[in-house]
Amino acid sequence: MTETKYKKVWNLDNLFPGGSESPSFNNYVKQLELEIIKMEEKLSLFDNLLEINQSLGIESVIKNIGDIQEKLSQANSFLTCLTAQNTKDQGAVVLRGVTSAMNARFESVIKKFQHIILETNEDLWIEIIETKALNEYKFILTMWREKAKMLLSEKEERLVSDLMMDGYHAWRQFYNSLIGRIKINVPFGEESRELSIGQTFNLRSHPDEDIRKAAHIALEDALQEKEELFAQILNNIAGFRLQVYKNRKLPHILTEPLIENRLKAETLNAMWSAINKYKKPFTNYLEGKAKMFGDTKMQSYNFWAPVGESKQRMSYGEAVSFILESFSHFGNELGDFAWKAFEKEWVEAENRANKSTAGFCASFPRTGESRIFLTYEEGITSVLTLAHELGHAFHNDAMKTVDGSNRQYPLSIAETASFFAEQVILDAVLEKAESKEEKLFLLDEKLKRSVMNFMNIHSRFLFEKNFYEERKKGRLSVERLNELMKEAFNMAYDRSFDNPSLRSWIWTPHYYITTSPFYNFPYTFGYLFALSLYAKSKEIGKSFEKEYIALLRDSGSMSLENLAMKHLGEDITTEDFWGKGIKLCVKDVEEFMSLIS
Ligand SMILES: [Zn+2]
Repeated sequence: MTETKYKKVWNLDNLFPGGSESPSFNNYVKQLELEIIKMEEKLSLFDNLLEINQSLGIESVIKNIGDIQEKLSQANSFLTCLTAQNTKDQGAVVLRGVTSAMNARFESVIKKFQHIILETNEDLWIEIIETKALNEYKFILTMWREKAKMLLSEKEERLVSDLMMDGYHAWRQFYNSLIGRIKINVPFGEESRELSIGQTFNLRSHPDEDIRKAAHIALEDALQEKEELFAQILNNIAGFRLQVYKNRKLPHILTEPLIENRLKAETLNAMWSAINKYKKPFTNYLEGKAKMFGDTKMQSYNFWAPVGESKQRMSYGEAVSFILESFSHFGNELGDFAWKAFEKEWVEAENRANKSTAGFCASFPRTGESRIFLTYEEGITSVLTLAHELGHAFHNDAMKTVDGSNRQYPLSIAETASFFAEQVILDAVLEKAESKEEKLFLLDEKLKRSVMNFMNIHSRFLFEKNFYEERKKGRLSVERLNELMKEAFNMAYDRSFDNPSLRSWIWTPHYYITTSPFYNFPYTFGYLFALSLYAKSKEIGKSFEKEYIALLRDSGSMSLENLAMKHLGEDITTEDFWGKGIKLCVKDVEEFMSLIS
């Protein structure tokens, strides 16, 4: 086994020494609070843009906003890291309360500024926005104005926000409590075990089909018992959102999610229509995999089942060397960056108690750093997680020199660099694979991702869209919700999926997330966008890296249509563009099918 010189434990002390007791962090937070109050006071003196422009200068206000945004992320990220490395760190929980209040206060400051922008008449607006000093901020300012146009008056918006706390968002919290309390009795041969939903999900990839099937049935039964309650919650959340949209006079349920994701409706339509066009290869894959289990149609509980076998075990040291080598093969910048991340002790990978479970990457914009968190186990999945998080960190690094307000990129592009990095590693592992079993395992791993993005996420989108349309006319019964779910599955999977979980409208948390409506299509968008970038990099070779970095750098200050046009010369409002990414995945299907035939 190769031992690595790189530590498995990260260094947080060089950010703020002393963890949650850190005096320098405490000081930092206090200073930041003062800065927010100062900004609040400054803006309260004005109620129109012309006055601001003449006395403070709009540029300085935006710079100030960006500055505070960066400092808040620095503080929030530090707390995220503290709680993840030790879930019992009570000091961090207390500090989180302080920064949450600061985040909310700053939110209102930004809203106030957006309102001032909105009240500016068109002529003056154009005059101001076209000034040279504001060139860099034109996109973000225009977007703020567009967003503000959707809002009600300042007073009404404040009322909506207040009511949301104990209404809209409260339903989401209630959902979390309710779903977290559910216990599922899963039979294991003679005995049965009481599991949480998360633990039951983990059985989806259990090697024994009987256990997978039993877990699936037990989950559906347990949720059926409580479906009336969940139907009420979902109806309440949707009702609240629709009422707000109606008052804001939004023309469509997708208006807000599209603006938030900086996408045009045509782009979204083109993407789904390309996906519809290429369903067949993926239904073939599902059928092919079903046959391996002696079925004619894919049983939903066999979808996650492993096929083939991965014997590749990599120690942490081996994983680090493998990632460094594969990244450098793609481009020197990515390789050097990953080396720096390990060298500077940005990665926390140790397997020990009291660590949080999910992997993540936290950005520290003030110091131009990142921290990566995961629990490294010696299988290929951990290697991919490590690469995924390094991809996020690379995105942060590309934006290092970008101003705070131009750094806030939408969900739809948030997973681009991470998927891209995963793709680099997946292909490198596939190339290394020697046996047929190993290849099958890896191809299946890739194809599951494609099916999730092209079929499962598509079903979520269809369900949510149809549900919201019907909800406009009144509340939906449990029966109707199950029916809509079934229809969405049939459409999205082209009827190639048997026994789908009709109660997935209950266990999919995204339907209940009140801060990001329609949190489904950004996944598919991100997946395909990263694939297209990857295809382009294969075509162009190492010199593509420069353009790739430039694209990442611009990701917070452009619409996605313009971003793709500027850096790739691609029109993402066309079906053609999306087809190219999908075709790459079709190749995986072909290889998979030839291996099993
Ligand atoms: Zn990610």
